[in-house]
Amino acid sequence: MAKPRVHELAKELGTTSKDVLAKLQEMGEFVRTASSTVEAPVVRKLKEAYGDSGSAGAKKDKAAQKPAAPKPGAKSAPKPGASGSAKPAAPAAEKKAAAPKPAAKPGQTAPKPGVQSAPKPAPRPGAAGAKPGPRPGGGRSSARPGNNPFAPSQGMPKPGAKPGPRPGGGGRGGARPGNNPFAPSQGMPKPGPRPGRSGDAARTGGGPKPRGGKPTPRPGAPRPNPAMLKNSALAKPAPSRGGGRGPGGPGGPGGGPGGPPRGGRPGGPRGSGRGRGATQGAFGRGGGRARNKKSKRAKRQEMEQMQAPSIGGVTVPRGDGNTPLRLRRGSSLADFAEKINTDPTNLVTVLFHLGEMATITQSLDEETFQILGEELGYKIQIVSPEDEDRELLESFDIDLEAEAEAEDDEDLQARPPVVTVMGHVDHGKTKLLDAIRSADVTAKEAGGITQHIGAYQVSMEHEGENRRITFLDTPGHEAFTAMRARGAKATDVAILVVAADDGVMPQTIEALNHAQAAGVPVVVAVNKIDKDTANPQKVMSQLTEYDLIAEEFGGETMFVPISALQRKGIDDLLEAVLLTTDAALDLKANPDKSARGIAIEAKLDKGRGAVATVLVESGTLKQGDAIVCGTAYGRVRALFDENGQSVEEAGPSRPVQVLGLSSVPRAGDTFLATDDDRTARQIAEKRDAIERNAAQARGRKRISLEDFTKALEEGKVDMLNLILKGDVSGAVEALEDSLLKIDVGEEVDLRIIHRGVGAITENDINLATVDNAIVIGFNVRPEAKARDLAESEGVDVRYYSVIYDAIDDIENSLKGMLKPEFEEVHTGSAEIREVFRSSKWGNIAGCMVKDGVIKRNSKARITRDGVVVGDNLTVESLRRFKDDATEVREGFECGVGLGSFNDIREGDLIETFEMQEKPRD
Ligand code: GDP
Repeated sequence: MAKPRVHELAKELGTTSKDVLAKLQEMGEFVRTASSTVEAPVVRKLKEAYGDSGSAGAKKDKAAQKPAAPKPGAKSAPKPGASGSAKPAAPAAEKKAAAPKPAAKPGQTAPKPGVQSAPKPAPRPGAAGAKPGPRPGGGRSSARPGNNPFAPSQGMPKPGAKPGPRPGGGGRGGARPGNNPFAPSQGMPKPGPRPGRSGDAARTGGGPKPRGGKPTPRPGAPRPNPAMLKNSALAKPAPSRGGGRGPGGPGGPGGGPGGPPRGGRPGGPRGSGRGRGATQGAFGRGGGRARNKKSKRAKRQEMEQMQAPSIGGVTVPRGDGNTPLRLRRGSSLADFAEKINTDPTNLVTVLFHLGEMATITQSLDEETFQILGEELGYKIQIVSPEDEDRELLESFDIDLEAEAEAEDDEDLQARPPVVTVMGHVDHGKTKLLDAIRSADVTAKEAGGITQHIGAYQVSMEHEGENRRITFLDTPGHEAFTAMRARGAKATDVAILVVAADDGVMPQTIEALNHAQAAGVPVVVAVNKIDKDTANPQKVMSQLTEYDLIAEEFGGETMFVPISALQRKGIDDLLEAVLLTTDAALDLKANPDKSARGIAIEAKLDKGRGAVATVLVESGTLKQGDAIVCGTAYGRVRALFDENGQSVEEAGPSRPVQVLGLSSVPRAGDTFLATDDDRTARQIAEKRDAIERNAAQARGRKRISLEDFTKALEEGKVDMLNLILKGDVSGAVEALEDSLLKIDVGEEVDLRIIHRGVGAITENDINLATVDNAIVIGFNVRPEAKARDLAESEGVDVRYYSVIYDAIDDIENSLKGMLKPEFEEVHTGSAEIREVFRSSKWGNIAGCMVKDGVIKRNSKARITRDGVVVGDNLTVESLRRFKDDATEVREGFECGVGLGSFNDIREGDLIETFEMQEKPRD
């Protein structure tokens, strides 16, 4: 007989696969997944282990998990009474200790993306430990690496190997990807708690620099600033008031509003703060008047200070050295100027004198703002959109992280996995979703009319339990990535559908890349096995190249042959999803609290208004709840399930349609139930305002190769993520191979998170946005929409037609040597029709603009019969009739003055151009 698999043994022994895996591990057997096969001698040993106490032992084990949560570790660890199980804690502990190791040098083990992403979650236990959370010993999450057969410590390269993309059920909310372009874990599934939340240290990436407080001379700030010294004196007005001036201060009626002297505190006038007559009384001085006068003086000083010219001779409103100033990440000088109510050009000047050049709208990094802030007396705090939203919620006393942390293990209940079906077009994703849905008995029993609401849930028997699985029924990775781009992470497991007759196709790989980038475990559905031409083996061997190794080949990915058309193999597939879930993830949520989740689909319905399908992540959503979803808010008027049935409430992982929202939210928006309508409305309104502001600050830049070089030098980044798109697969592979061969040294990693053939799509840009990647186009260009998106999102897209150029650039940037290149971009040309001679202005060319636009101050050259007769010129004056013009368009006449250059003739051509950073090709 064939060797039994773990889950079959579990069935036989009357326990769960997880339990058997734990047991095997205790026994020192290296078995990875629930579907791994087990050798006969091991089976015997295992049965003996169970045999002593029999399946009752197993049950006892199970029972042991339940009582008042002894210790988190106990779950996986040896059960009391299980024979020979006194030791197993040690191996588990060893594993735990070993787990974080790979994180230290990701990518050292192997270069593939999955590999590099896998080790990252390892430090999570540490991170969890950093929080003084109530979860003892790091709770579930730290317990997992120890007994998780997929734990990275075992060298598992797969994303499935991850102990889970989200911190043990601690909340998806927490897993939202931070956007810090320099965060070392770029592109990682953002395993830990939201950066910057729990530990201040974590915030250093996007938050205030430690230097914050008082302006201190900075090595980068070129000159000492007397104004700043004054500022710092101003920052502490109290001491001078209490001490030095005391005796000479004007007298005045004793006591004053300050009342009777309060015991002494001669040493602490500062602490007692302004306005306490007490302090002054203690010094025998009058209260009110004296104080007022002082504060006026202080105020005047402050005013003077604020109006003092800054360096560069411009007057800019100043802070007192501690004046807080919050800027969104990616802000520009225009944003800064708006906050302090000044003209942005003033800031350009100040910055210039501080040795940095920037345009008004250019998005600047934190360092630059800090320099400027120090000069002008502001304490700069850079906030990310996530921080902003978190703070917004906190201002309403909603702290999702604290909430998740405060949950005891007992509060948490297992929740169904949420699954997305992905794969190449026509490989049968839709058919499969239909087949799964119609195979579901409960749906049939419900008797409702099946509706497409964006997701549905099915239930099935698994290992003696009734289990449910939620499917997002918008197949494909586009929606998946679009959601991720919005910070939402709905999917727990991905089913990769591959047609057995067609094999692995470009979108198969694309989908796989997306799943791997998100750190989502994958189950492969080898579809269309009913076809004569089906070759499932080929699919398996093809996917091996992409780190998806079938169990049959010694890997740990489950490949399930199915026929979506004939509805065969569907149960096996669902079983595989549950096995993979149980082995790789620990999905739990607390149903007994206000609901939190995300919107997965929404539309405006004529009769019913805004209709949104939301996926509850934790808590329970009930009719009548006040909710806010993105910038929409309202009271839940009605809830419907996927069968069109009205439901009273929906718990974790349950998708439901919600009626009653004020507007249509976007897919990926988070929602939460609030205590009352007002709170929901206020949160929504504030978010709306924030979004509008952010929209104005568009054009922010994400990481570019040049930024990367800088960030690398500063040690802010340790991973370069790339997306490769090319015209033919051979070229893409060649490029990938060569890139991966670059000797990048110890400190930095190169990760190719996606590669594909064809034009650069919106989807590629979305992925680049999420994972802060740079897009390399090899003989391909972006689609128009993708170009716009890249521009608005500030994604660096580079074009090449020679592989070596691409490799050179990447290599140089990794070695910190890349310099931007500039090229000339033609803006317009004008033919000289007449030359006006003026003794005062020099020669003026009367022109007709032939194409484009002639702009004042643009660079120009003159050609005569195709030969350049004047170069390095500037359009110094530009007129339409008698009026000065800033630009003149094609088909119009104008007068052009080229400064001192006078050698112009009728018939000459004036060409104007701009210098732009060069896209490399
Ligand atoms: P999608 O683009 O991935 O959603 O693919 P569809 O579900 O629309 O299926 C594409 C085509 O493949 C349709 O004509 C289906 O009938 C067919 N198809 C899907 N699954 C199977 C299958 O298991 N066997 C066969 N023979 N055809 C299938």
